[in-house]
Amino acid sequence: MGLNLHTHLEGWVRPATAAELAREASVPTPPGGWDRALRMDSPGDLTVYLAHVAAAYPVLGSAEGLRRVAREAVEDAAVDGCDFLEIRFGPSTHRRPGFDLAAVIAAACEGLADGSRATGLPSGLVVCLLRHDDDETNLAVARAAAAAAGAGVVGLDVAGDERVFPSIARYRAPFAVAAAAGLGLTAHAAEAGPAESVVEAVEGLGVARIGHGSRAADDPAILAWSAERGVTFEVCPTSNVLTGAARSVREHPLHAFLAAGCGVVLGDDDPVTTGSTLGAEERLLVTDGGLSDEQVGAMHRTAVEVVFTDETTRALLRDRFA
Ligand SMILES: [Zn+2]
Repeated sequence: MGLNLHTHLEGWVRPATAAELAREASVPTPPGGWDRALRMDSPGDLTVYLAHVAAAYPVLGSAEGLRRVAREAVEDAAVDGCDFLEIRFGPSTHRRPGFDLAAVIAAACEGLADGSRATGLPSGLVVCLLRHDDDETNLAVARAAAAAAGAGVVGLDVAGDERVFPSIARYRAPFAVAAAAGLGLTAHAAEAGPAESVVEAVEGLGVARIGHGSRAADDPAILAWSAERGVTFEVCPTSNVLTGAARSVREHPLHAFLAAGCGVVLGDDDPVTTGSTLGAEERLLVTDGGLSDEQVGAMHRTAVEVVFTDETTRALLRDRFA
């Protein structure tokens, strides 16, 4: 198995847990039930996909709920056979009166620590800025993430609807705050936006990892530039098919990334939304994607080099995948 370097906590709420948390918080059951609300059954676009992810938001507004969901994600990943879980979430969504950004982040960190202690699976939290949030909120999120560096937070990301909110330059200040705190940096880019947004994210935000980056495959010059700059693409095949960012796993842009010499690592994006775990994605790359086991192994070794973790953990992972 391998490292999960692109997955969202909000897309990892077990339907049964959502139902229980909803009862406790008097949140109404969505029409058709939690399973249908959280899972996307057939391909659509990024906006529809994000609506399924957002269906979990109403049950994530408490410390107990967030802590439980984070712990259960680590437990599920351990059962799936994962070797390192780097999981991300957007804390601004889950704030409530009396439950501020620092408390939201702390609850997720505690849940991951609970899960890692119980399973032995190492984990780290990546905090997401959200494209629909205002600049002041995103700066506050980056500061709260920086304050929790070393207490479970390992990185900063920007996520959300790239079609509706395309600008990257807006996130320079918060990314500078995270970089100064020693956090790892990644950004969702060129998932629904143009190939050039990869360059904007790398040069403007200082990231070396790109979430999805699917549209970069449209532009050979940007692929060559990415390879030369050592950019690693975090790919999530099933999610990319559901959002329309890839036609199929066989025609997934990851083949163009590999051919151009770019780094490629794997994630499952939102395993409840997509119904596919990291282990399933890995098998899919071989059965449907036409990759060899050796190519999948090389992706794991790339992941070991770019995972946001301490050097002791990296050395252990390096030994495991040598
Ligand atoms: Zn994502």
